[in-house]
Amino acid sequence: MTSAGRFAPSPSGELHVGNLRTAILAWLFARSSGRGFLLRVEDLDRARAGAEAEQLRDLAAVGVTWDGDVVRQTDRDHLYAKALEQLTAAGMTYECFCTRREIQDAPTAPHAPQGAYPGTCRNLSAAEREDKRRLRPAAIRLRAAATEATVQDVLHGSFTGVVDDFVLRRNDGVTAYNLAVVVDDAAQGIDQVVRGDDLLPSTPRQAYLASLLNIPVPEYAHVPLVVNAAGARLAKRDGAVTLGDLAAAGVGADRVRDALLASVGLPPGALAGALEAFDPAALPREPWVWPGLTPAGQ
Ligand code: GLU
Repeated sequence: MTSAGRFAPSPSGELHVGNLRTAILAWLFARSSGRGFLLRVEDLDRARAGAEAEQLRDLAAVGVTWDGDVVRQTDRDHLYAKALEQLTAAGMTYECFCTRREIQDAPTAPHAPQGAYPGTCRNLSAAEREDKRRLRPAAIRLRAAATEATVQDVLHGSFTGVVDDFVLRRNDGVTAYNLAVVVDDAAQGIDQVVRGDDLLPSTPRQAYLASLLNIPVPEYAHVPLVVNAAGARLAKRDGAVTLGDLAAAGVGADRVRDALLASVGLPPGALAGALEAFDPAALPREPWVWPGLTPAGQ
């Protein structure tokens, strides 16, 4: 299998300039290292009709190109099911019947890391499981044999984070992101993962899961987010932050692309030009405050 990088948007709405900046960086990382570049639509959850087409159009408008066909997670359930079977056969999964509320209210074990599943359903007897199945369908959790894992990141160096009994399949039958992402990256030959650094905390869980599935751990680069003037992650309510809104305000996609390139110290123009100047080591490590863009000459 060839080596590749990727961009994996969730089609929940239009991409904003923060997503586009991450996509451009992922493209530059991949192309500058001689890798292919793939696009995967993460539509297991939160998909909105029409959003995928808008996202692909906007990626193309800022010059992000990809190899081959777009892959959709909703077409790949057989792969997730196979991985889940493999883990279950190895005794590495269990059924969990907890509601969100029950997890919140459960007493946490001393020294348990924040946000870790408290283990309520880990050691249920067969009879207890039988009883609870009558209440509601089970989610499937990983029976983790580690409490933390360390990953290497191009921008963050060595990063250690929590591994807990995280959900692999939700109780509505939908595969959880952490399982899907690991299976998909491996099946697509993706050996470089560039994405927003809001996902760094879940990366040790994914690397641990990869090791259980005998999947090589990809190279990671978690890039800083784009934030608003108050320092919060950019969102739709921050004004004209999508290509659609910016175009309506008289700002074309080329100017947006150039502003995004400038924010990482790269020259304006087609991405091929930026590629020559791209140096991962020189990337800013801090979030970038979206300055807003107004039509040229104003
Ligand atoms: N689909 C995820 C998102 O849009 C990204 C997942 C990833 O890059 O691993 O936030």
